[in-house]
Amino acid sequence: MSFSGSVAVVTGGSKGIGASIAKSLAKRGLKVVINYSSSEDDAFALSENIKKDGGSCDILRFNVADFEESGSAFNEIIGKYKRIDYLVNNAGITADNLMLRMKEDEFDRVIAVNLKGVFNCTKHVIKPMIKNRFGSIVNISSVIGLMGNAGQANYAASKAGVIGLTKSLAKELGSRNIRINAIAPGFIETSMTRKLNILQRKVLIDSIALKRLGKPEDVANLAVFLLSDEAGYITGETINISGGLYI
Ligand code: NAP
Repeated sequence: MSFSGSVAVVTGGSKGIGASIAKSLAKRGLKVVINYSSSEDDAFALSENIKKDGGSCDILRFNVADFEESGSAFNEIIGKYKRIDYLVNNAGITADNLMLRMKEDEFDRVIAVNLKGVFNCTKHVIKPMIKNRFGSIVNISSVIGLMGNAGQANYAASKAGVIGLTKSLAKELGSRNIRINAIAPGFIETSMTRKLNILQRKVLIDSIALKRLGKPEDVANLAVFLLSDEAGYITGETINISGGLYI
């Protein structure tokens, strides 16, 4: 795969899907800025690993839900590298509860990180991208945003919101040669899904056509393709990668 740009930012890149995307981009010669909010040790270990393999990366702590904090972080990145060509809005959280029991704070926190976080980070990269007349953005949504899930009204709303935002921005930014796509993963083996108990896992696997959870690398392969020049005529799409959980 080929890349016309050279600098990528991956939010929530310290573990799980984001870490796999960061590794994969670094392996292809991109300079990668790995964001996290609290998992400093994971971010540091990942960056050491990438550098050991000859890659180039920085780690940068900021809370994607905080507009000012993310603004300063993106200014710092642009100050250092003079450009940002690729953004992966991957940082995300869950706070599951049935609506009857869901607290206002559980709803607000999930929307703030998963949806407002995408706004905050995208808002700060589009100016330099417009200036360079080049950019590619991938937003990590979820099949839950397409199909809904009992106990995840907050998460489903945030991820459906990301899909609407992606489509709108593709229309706004296409004329500036900026592409923006979303990925809707099914259930992927990360710390997010490690919370499932054995019974929940069995029921879930029974409903997946490929009879397994996905791997972070499965999602990374798709994200890297969507960022690459080979996907140069794809924008505004949401690609489902769920092993046939949602068809
Ligand atoms: P994960 O292993 O829990 O990793 C989440 C990442 O997001 C971590 O690096 C975490 O860093 C970061 N993060 C969380 N809140 C943040 C904040 N406020 N600011 C900056 N970084 C923050 O989760 P994952 O499973 O890889 O999920 C990655 C993305 O894929 C999420 O958007 C998730 O909704 C989506 N997704 C996951 C699955 C799945 O089955 N795993 C399925 C569909 C979609 P800190 O720990 O430092 O905060």
